[in-house]
Amino acid sequence: MNKKTDYIIVGQGLAGSILALTLLKRGKSVVVIDNATQNTASKIAAGLYNPVVFKRLVKSWLADDLLPYMDKFYPEMEKQLGTKFYFSKRILKPFAEEQEKILWLKKIEEPIGKYLNSTIYTEDLNGIVYNPLGISEVKHAGNLDAIKFLNSSKEYLVKNNFFSEEQFDYNALVLNENSVTYKEVSADKIIFCEGQKATENPHFKWLPFKLTKGEIITIKLAPGYSIPDEIVINKAVFILPIGNDMYKVGATYEWNDLRENITEKGKLDLIEKLEKVLKIPYEIIQHQAGIRPTVNDRRPLIGLHPEHPQLAVFNGMGTKGVMLAPFFANQFADFLENQSPLDKEVDIVRFF
Ligand SMILES: Cc1cc2nc3c(=O)[nH]c(=O)nc-3n(C[C@H](O)[C@H](O)[C@H](O)COP(=O)(O)OP(=O)(O)OC[C@H]3O[C@@H](n4cnc5c(N)ncnc54)[C@H](O)[C@@H]3O)c2cc1C
Repeated sequence: MNKKTDYIIVGQGLAGSILALTLLKRGKSVVVIDNATQNTASKIAAGLYNPVVFKRLVKSWLADDLLPYMDKFYPEMEKQLGTKFYFSKRILKPFAEEQEKILWLKKIEEPIGKYLNSTIYTEDLNGIVYNPLGISEVKHAGNLDAIKFLNSSKEYLVKNNFFSEEQFDYNALVLNENSVTYKEVSADKIIFCEGQKATENPHFKWLPFKLTKGEIITIKLAPGYSIPDEIVINKAVFILPIGNDMYKVGATYEWNDLRENITEKGKLDLIEKLEKVLKIPYEIIQHQAGIRPTVNDRRPLIGLHPEHPQLAVFNGMGTKGVMLAPFFANQFADFLENQSPLDKEVDIVRFF
């Protein structure tokens, strides 16, 4: 069966799914190819979005532009896909030292102040967390249940004949003058959204990825204890309620050992940090590892191949795929369809 489509998209992680849904919304046709690998970054991500970088207490890059866009995109997709996956949460941050509290209160007066609650809470959440110095709260934060989002996106793509589950074979890709052919499908462009696996893509492996491994555990609290669903605790690690009395705790950052396995070192690192904030017993019920598609200048990698403009890339979402992908999928679609400019900070021409 021969098929003509506007775009072939390789990868159905957060990047590929969000780009596919964005292009479909504009009336374009797509074929999404994904190999159903487990433990990809998107499948294990906590899916948190947070406009505040705690380390330096500054706004996350482009937060003022990304948040309104997300608030539009995800609820629209919830309606279209018929599943709830986008949640607003209170991110509570117990202060680690007095100096942190002084800085927080000072920053309330600055532009970042719109994301910082000026109330300092003294509670310990019914005896669950250590809180000798008070707890602060981030405004306008939350999380995407990435698994629910990916599953419902896939279901939609499959139902509408836009999906093929297979390992993409680079040798089967034919570059025509202004188009590509892959097996029986021809398209104007092919867009690679392969996350960390882009480092194995013969057309784009030259991009300066600086991958980061992340490990995450899922815990169950001792009977009788629970953290309300609308709260995320964040102090060196985050504790995110995921339902059924379970919590995701993460994450580690490792740049040297990029093997995809879980490690004892990663688990111990998480336990050590967790026990500085959590007062009560818990049980570890799952431990996962994934590789984030991070880049040496910490910006996405979006654009067209320097010699073959029918090849494109939408990648480099790094540690913040949930916030970055909807905004930049829209910008990339404008670029592809209307020749609107791409933000210079994300366009891969910066590496030509
Ligand atoms: C532990 C951890 C915690 C995280 N927490 C958060 C968080 O709280 N908030 C946040 O915003 N981000 C978080 N991230 C980062 C987030 O996961 C990434 O930004 C995002 O998932 C990247 O999505 P992606 O689609 O680019 O890549 P991926 O998730 O890697 O998806 C790529 C897809 O392409 C497929 N693929 C690749 N090559 C091929 C091929 N040749 N043929 C067929 N299919 C192929 C893969 O199977 C996969 O499905 C976290 C990451 C980790 C590891």
